[in-house]
Amino acid sequence: MRYSILSLARGALAGHRNWPRAWRDPSPKRRYDVVVIGGGGHGLATAFYLAREFGIRNVAVLEKGWIGSGNAGRNTTIIRSNYLLPGNIGFYELSMKLWERIEQDLNYNAMVSQRGVINLYHSDGQRDAFARRGNAMRINGIDAELLDLAALRKMLPFLNYDHARFPVMGGLLQRRGGTARHDAVVWGYARAADRLGVDIIQNCEVTGFVRENGRITGVETTRGEIGAAKVGMAVAGNSSRVAAMAGMKLPIESHVLQAFVSEAIKPLLPGVLTFGAGHFYVSQSDKGGLVFGGDIDGYNSYAQRGNMPVMEDVCEGGMAIMPMIGRVRLLRQWGGIMDMSMDGSPIIDRTPLDGLYLNAGWCYGGFKATPASGLVFAHLMARDETHPEARRFRLDRFRRGAMIDEKGQGAQPNLH
Ligand SMILES: Cc1cc2nc3c(=O)[nH]c(=O)nc-3n(C[C@H](O)[C@H](O)[C@H](O)COP(=O)(O)OP(=O)(O)OC[C@H]3O[C@@H](n4cnc5c(N)ncnc54)[C@H](O)[C@@H]3O)c2cc1C
Repeated sequence: MRYSILSLARGALAGHRNWPRAWRDPSPKRRYDVVVIGGGGHGLATAFYLAREFGIRNVAVLEKGWIGSGNAGRNTTIIRSNYLLPGNIGFYELSMKLWERIEQDLNYNAMVSQRGVINLYHSDGQRDAFARRGNAMRINGIDAELLDLAALRKMLPFLNYDHARFPVMGGLLQRRGGTARHDAVVWGYARAADRLGVDIIQNCEVTGFVRENGRITGVETTRGEIGAAKVGMAVAGNSSRVAAMAGMKLPIESHVLQAFVSEAIKPLLPGVLTFGAGHFYVSQSDKGGLVFGGDIDGYNSYAQRGNMPVMEDVCEGGMAIMPMIGRVRLLRQWGGIMDMSMDGSPIIDRTPLDGLYLNAGWCYGGFKATPASGLVFAHLMARDETHPEARRFRLDRFRRGAMIDEKGQGAQPNLH
């Protein structure tokens, strides 16, 4: 069924009792052309673009829990393309362009809201670094504005300008940045892929790989063996675990990242705001809650929950720029497992094993990449050739010393 104003009106008149299932619940077939492991945003987007862009419809997405139960349903929903380095800058702008038409592409309301992203700066040196990043963006046709103190005070009069340890001096604004509703993105891709014939199979954990003559020819799962001409991994925080089943060790560590939501308050924040002298980012949901987060917890873990020290650190960051949020009550908190790569940038590539493809290393910035990641991963698997926007995301860049270290932190995943 296509969603439209007419179908909505018909649904309303019928008391919303006759809506069909948004996607099927098929049993796994014995064999597919492509199996994608992981029913997060990236796996589902990959399946959608395989079907729509490359005509490969005999595809299954295998998800060990329910779709969106991983990071796709746990993130703080920020989308932006305010990057500096070649490799990242074009890729994330491709993603932003896909966000701008995603609702038409999927026939689904993903609640993309381009309400702007402001990165605050707190020193002359940081202003210069932000000016450089903004200029790089503009040279590449991406919108960026460097705000001075007067412009910022006008937009965000409630910030702590005068009594802060790290005084706010201005900000770098990307107006096209903003947020999208994370669950709706998952459901939208799932529904659109399903309509093109993709099988979305939930409660189906991949437990091993099937090999013939050194080539991957399928997967072992909790619902039996499934054959595939090609297998793609898009399992985010579980990348090292799944790769280990194929005998591979990845340049990735898994870390916990927490998110927090406050009680609902009246509209306060016009867009997304980030603190430049610590790690804190915040936006306000349509329901009124402040949605915020900060650093990873800093130890390796596969547990989807975090600990108090980082919670305190995040709240300190928030209090530094908006002291009044100290009076707001925290409503919810949770954690997700980040696939931290050694340079903070993703990996989209073939693996040394024929038939097995890798999509990983998203750190805590992969939600905004969802559409572009799906498109370029589908391109790689369909044509066996790297998409031009993903050519710097090769696995061997760590061996070649061609890292894309946007933060300049070196090979320390806990700092990226
Ligand atoms: C608290 C938090 C805040 C974040 N904030 C932002 C943000 O504001 N902006 C942004 O751009 N990014 C953000 N991120 C990062 C972003 O969510 C991730 O980078 C992105 O979602 C990863 O891709 P995915 O959606 O495919 O991952 P996931 O949703 O994690 O999908 C991977 C799936 O693989 C499944 N899986 C794992 N192992 C197996 C197996 N053996 N068999 C079958 N299935 C398996 C998992 O169950 C999971 O559903 C945040 C993440 C967190 C946790």
